Amino acid sequence: MPELPEVETIVRGLSTMRGARIDELEVLDQRLALPVHEIVGKTIEGIERRGKYILFCLSSGGDLIVHLRMSGRLTLTRSSAEEKHTRFVLHLDRGKVYFINPRRLGTVEYSRNGFPHNLGIDPFDFEFTPQHLEEIVTSSRAPIKPLLMDQRRIAGLGNIYAAEALWRAGIDPRRAGNTLTRKEIRALHPAILGILQNAIDNMGTTFGETVSDYRNVYGDYGGFQDLLAVYGREKERCPRCGEEILRIRQAGRSTYYCPECQR
Ligand SMILES: [Zn+2]
Repeated sequence: MPELPEVETIVRGLSTMRGARIDELEVLDQRLALPVHEIVGKTIEGIERRGKYILFCLSSGGDLIVHLRMSGRLTLTRSSAEEKHTRFVLHLDRGKVYFINPRRLGTVEYSRNGFPHNLGIDPFDFEFTPQHLEEIVTSSRAPIKPLLMDQRRIAGLGNIYAAEALWRAGIDPRRAGNTLTRKEIRALHPAILGILQNAIDNMGTTFGETVSDYRNVYGDYGGFQDLLAVYGREKERCPRCGEEILRIRQAGRSTYYCPECQR
């Protein structure tokens, strides 16, 4: 499931389409309610990320906004296995962009007046300082891991990178936000930025080989799955202390952590 690093990798991959004109919008899923006549003929002036959303900023002044959710993908190439899962195709004057959405969980919408979703701060925003993180974390009694995944507070972290950031910072994912000390938050802030940057540098995380698993815009796997410390590693050894990694349920999701060095 794409989180900030995977979405950022896709946005960077799509950047070659900046300045391209949309000659045709081929809608293959009739449930997608898109105003085709407002989109065709417009130029893609920018391609941006907001949290886990991808925005095509059009010369109409409107934005075509995609959220990949669990298994959606935007690609510049398409395999034959992906053909029947394609929900729309942007035919551009210099290529095509495919929206591949096998389980129909991804969403697409057109907004005429700006970004319509209420999102928290982006970790790469310059205003995301240790002080800002401290305000977010200490204002809640919720467990720290679901707190970090709350898109209305911090936009972009999901199940994988929240778990990895907490491992790096040595913080138990079950701790209530308002029990974290300033010293712990000073460790968590660079852990969040570091894990996201490392994952971007490795083109994101891919777990499987099905049509639903993350790929970049050229259909290639990410490389960060080999570098994860705890996520998906139940019963393996903690790379820092050698203790067995545990898996628990939190807010309906699996959480992986080391009971020895995350306190
Ligand atoms: Zn450990």
